[in-house]
Amino acid sequence: MIPKTHPRKKSLDIRHRLVNGFKQGLVAHAGLIAHGRGEAFDYLIGEKTISEARKAEEAAVALLLLAKKPVISVNGNTASLCPREVVQLAKTVNAGIEVNLFYRGRGREKKIAAILKKAGAKKVHGVGVKTKKIKNLASPRALIDTALWESDVVLVPLEDGDRTEALAAMGKKVIAIDLNPLSRTAQKATITIVDNIVRAMPNMIALAERLREEKREKVDRYVTSFNNKRNLAAVERLIRKSL
Ligand code: ATP
Repeated sequence: MIPKTHPRKKSLDIRHRLVNGFKQGLVAHAGLIAHGRGEAFDYLIGEKTISEARKAEEAAVALLLLAKKPVISVNGNTASLCPREVVQLAKTVNAGIEVNLFYRGRGREKKIAAILKKAGAKKVHGVGVKTKKIKNLASPRALIDTALWESDVVLVPLEDGDRTEALAAMGKKVIAIDLNPLSRTAQKATITIVDNIVRAMPNMIALAERLREEKREKVDRYVTSFNNKRNLAAVERLIRKSL
């Protein structure tokens, strides 16, 4: 238990959630290391939602609301840090939920699906046999469920670059949440949210509740006025300036 007065309480609490997730078999060894890379970038952006992230979150939520078949792809870190938020966002934008792991194992898939179901998910895709295969992706993650195969917009928090690129090459619009604006994922996604997933998801739920009441033209404008390359360049400038 971290004392309330500890200056790094929030950050340490998040670490503990991941360590617990690891002990429960949800998070892979490498997931803990990936979190460390994220933490370093979070430090550089001031551990807050910067205005560029806010704009990306608006565009991302608008894109999810306009999608025909949106899917949220969940890995072990995401399931440990914000299972309730994944389910709530999926309900608000009417998206499917799919488990997708870099380090695959039927046991871990089932555990992640169980956490999501406990958080209120009715259906979780991607557990067990997968019949579809993403082209040009040399990893077991190329095998996917029909939900992801048929999707037009995919939210991939904490994804790797290869799969982001492969999903984009399939014609899907890819929304990434990634604290590292330099990662291949950040560079290849249609919309990159440079924010910590624990802040981004609640922000996106609140935005989805607001934007789904708006007229379609207004929702459209959030997407058409957003430029991912420009947004990422602005994040990089902010990081350099803050140093
Ligand atoms: P890429 O293949 O895209 O270049 P990578 O190899 O740098 O990615 P991975 O280990 O595949 O990184 O994925 C981890 C990514 O997730 C890192 O870029 C890290 O910044 C990001 N990340 C880790 N924890 C969080 C978090 N809590 N919120 C947002 N992003 C995070």
